[in-house]
Amino acid sequence: MANQALYLRWRPQIFEDVIGQDHITRTIRNALQQERIRHAYLFSGPRGTGKTTMARLLAKAVNCTHDDIQRRPCNECHQCQMVNQGRFLDLIEIDAASHTSVDDVRDLRDKIAFSPSEGRYKVYIIDEVHRFSGSAFDALLKTLEEPPDHAIFILATTEFDKVPATIKSRCLIFEFRRVSLRQVMDRLQRICDDEGISIDPAALELIARQGTGSVRDSISLLDQVVADPTQHISFDLAQQMLGAVSSQAVQEIVQAVIEQDAAQGLHFLNEAIDSGADSRQLGQQVVDHLRQMMLVQVSGTEVIDASDEYRQVLALQAAQIGRRTLLKAIRTFNLAINDLSSGWQPQLPLELAIVESSQPEQESIEPVIEKSRPSAPEKRPVSQPTFAAVNDSGLSLRDIQVQWKEVIRVARGQRSTLPALLEWCDPTKFDGSLLVLSLRNEVLRPKLEDPKNLQPLLASLEAVFGHKMNVRIELASHSAHTKKNQEMDDDLAIFGMSELGAEPREIE
Ligand SMILES: [Zn+2]
Repeated sequence: MANQALYLRWRPQIFEDVIGQDHITRTIRNALQQERIRHAYLFSGPRGTGKTTMARLLAKAVNCTHDDIQRRPCNECHQCQMVNQGRFLDLIEIDAASHTSVDDVRDLRDKIAFSPSEGRYKVYIIDEVHRFSGSAFDALLKTLEEPPDHAIFILATTEFDKVPATIKSRCLIFEFRRVSLRQVMDRLQRICDDEGISIDPAALELIARQGTGSVRDSISLLDQVVADPTQHISFDLAQQMLGAVSSQAVQEIVQAVIEQDAAQGLHFLNEAIDSGADSRQLGQQVVDHLRQMMLVQVSGTEVIDASDEYRQVLALQAAQIGRRTLLKAIRTFNLAINDLSSGWQPQLPLELAIVESSQPEQESIEPVIEKSRPSAPEKRPVSQPTFAAVNDSGLSLRDIQVQWKEVIRVARGQRSTLPALLEWCDPTKFDGSLLVLSLRNEVLRPKLEDPKNLQPLLASLEAVFGHKMNVRIELASHSAHTKKNQEMDDDLAIFGMSELGAEPREIE
């Protein structure tokens, strides 16, 4: 046991142990308690955010035999224990990367027909499902169209866009979020306390930062740093073990990009590499730093999960760079990281990124400077509402948007004419209790606001999200007006969310 990797030892055994995905945990537990079990789920999200862990928990919960439905999975009954030991015959895990052929899926389809051997449900977890070939997807689709009652499919993917729409439409979709720095640090601290590892908070932060929101990667990095469990882990030691460069070097490289001084940038890069920095990690640190600057530009410093000192640096640097230039730099360095594995000149992609990012962009930076002054956030009147992505409810607007189809599906059961109305609505704002729906057809407004429709809508929302909320209807033209002014922001924010896992945060 002692030699087992930390992340295996710390894999969550109950839903409550999964961190940073409360919005999903609650919805799934809620559905389990109401015995609303679907035959197909699609878990999408960055690596290491708990997709397969959640899938195993779900497989365990639906097969658990504990009398109290609230306590499933109990980890005590025969079924739970078999799953935990990896010996449960009705849990079949398939890595799509190595089973891409249509024969594999046909084989799977033949086996599905047989009833479960020891549990209530046969659960198939298909990891990295986007790696399936076209014909394998077709075969899978046939199975999903008419699944046997005893079968549950949980598909997991890091590349949502590569999963065909026909597959998605058969699944209940959950989007896993990157876990916040604070949550990762808390988990690492708990592990260290429990394992008797002595570590500096700064070292912990460095590890969590390098794990970039992946709990699994962060715990593996911790494992890597803890070569000798009796040794105290200082910041310097962690930095040395991880091949990380000092944040000073990263800031200097970024400053050179801001000043469009490629020569300086290359100088700092080579200095860092010469002193033993790993080019991939250096590249990741630069992207992380630029991304934080982008978040500061869009939403102010208070959204940044960092020390005051670091926030000041970010605010200062964010104020000196135009948005286009910043966006271009992020894209360029992000691409460079992916290029790093190839080639005999490991730092070449980073050198190119520095030179490319230092080319002048034509743009005016005045409004950006105005908006990104560190003091700006404090000046905002308190009376104006702020729509934070993740509020007390643990649900974000994005979660509601992703599951909007499911809301419409559930609404059909409440009132048969309601789905037709909801097809004209888009969720546009959510503050934890009030959901704003943007309606694309003025004529339908009185109908939708009629309690005969509104009540079943509220009930459907509660059924899907396990959370009571109110709804306000707005006409789409109103939101379209403000949207135009914010086109740049949206561009930036969408890129930030899709490429870099930033959390959306709208400010009115
Ligand atoms: Zn059990």
